[in-house]
Amino acid sequence: MSESLQPDTIHTLPGWNGGRMTMQCLRVEAETHDVATFVFRSEQPTLFDFRPGQFVTLEPVIDGRTVPRCYSISSTPSRPCTFSITVKRVPGGLVSNWLHDHLRAGDRLTVSAPQGDFNIVDRPAERILMLSGGSGITPVMSMLRWLHDTAADVDIHFVHAARSPEDIIFRRELEAMDRANDRLRLSVTCESTGNGSWSGHRGRLSASMLQQMVPDLSERTVFTCGPEPYMEAVRDILGGLGFPASQYHEESFGGAPPAEPDREMPEPVVDADDDDTGDVVEATAVETGCTVRLARTGIEFTCAPSETLLEAVQNNGAWIPCACQMGVCGSCKVLKTAGDTRMQHMGGISDDEEAAGYVLACCTYPAGAVELDC
Ligand SMILES: Cc1cc2nc3c(=O)[nH]c(=O)nc-3n(C[C@H](O)[C@H](O)[C@H](O)COP(=O)(O)OP(=O)(O)OC[C@H]3O[C@@H](n4cnc5c(N)ncnc54)[C@H](O)[C@@H]3O)c2cc1C
Repeated sequence: MSESLQPDTIHTLPGWNGGRMTMQCLRVEAETHDVATFVFRSEQPTLFDFRPGQFVTLEPVIDGRTVPRCYSISSTPSRPCTFSITVKRVPGGLVSNWLHDHLRAGDRLTVSAPQGDFNIVDRPAERILMLSGGSGITPVMSMLRWLHDTAADVDIHFVHAARSPEDIIFRRELEAMDRANDRLRLSVTCESTGNGSWSGHRGRLSASMLQQMVPDLSERTVFTCGPEPYMEAVRDILGGLGFPASQYHEESFGGAPPAEPDREMPEPVVDADDDDTGDVVEATAVETGCTVRLARTGIEFTCAPSETLLEAVQNNGAWIPCACQMGVCGSCKVLKTAGDTRMQHMGGISDDEEAAGYVLACCTYPAGAVELDC
């Protein structure tokens, strides 16, 4: 440690200076057989400022290449001297396994500033239903820890779905909070009993199970997060029950965005450079594909109609850093120096950045010849 945590040596970094910081891993805590929490602090003792539910982008260097990935902060800003992420091993996954196998106390890592609209500060509510599946518990756990620590006057029902009792992340802490907080109600369902006994709900979340667990469902604001199949199930259940979209907030951990918006909740932001001519230009692009030129290297190739700029770049031996690949995190932001494009992002780019010519390569389709500053 470079400095001890004395009050007069602590710095506050609102918004983390809006940029990236070198963090030091303080400790690694096993949560389940394939989930671990990594606790970080900055080199200089710092009070971390973030909104419960937000995520950071880690930039580990693996085999000489920076491989960014997004992780929700699982800790709470009410305990601001450190922050944590909680990572599940993904079979065959590069970064999740690297973190488990290589990141140890004392190691340093570049981490970008927290971001994301999926947070309890920007979307306050008096009656909340938190719905999480598997490792999707992380952002809602941050929200729950925050509401619990601050004794917020919020009625919370926390419904978590796990594969088995051994897979329940944060189980002890959840049960302790449930016992201590009379404004919290905890319900957990397990797909199977695994190796242990389980007297709680059994099976995957269903409409009837949810209605039984949460009779006042329609009066609550939902915050939900989980793997894509879980999210699809939640959307189907709530959609089928006529749950209002205005009371629904979600964070998804994976899966590319659809080529065209095909979900009722939520709708990605669709930007086209030229609303009047876009359809005509796009029709041509759909038939032929478009030329993409990387200005700095002079590499030129064709982007197939179904490809994003990111896929085309990767398929042609070039490289743009990327993490979420769904228009959320902004890692693949690149300056477009020429050409028309169509972008379907999920909040990973600001209006000012767009106005300055930036696009997110992971969710941008060319509508004519395009030149990128990379
Ligand atoms: C906003 C946000 C927040 C998130 N928060 C969390 C969190 O709190 N906790 C958490 O655990 N995760 C979280 N994630 C997911 C996380 O960002 C990573 O996607 C996840 O850890 C997997 O990354 P990886 O590098 O291990 O896997 P990757 O290497 O990206 O692989 C992902 C999948 O693709 C497969 N794959 C990889 N390469 C190939 C190939 N060549 N051919 C075929 N298949 C292949 C892998 O087997 C794996 O199934 C979050 C994601 C987002 C967008």
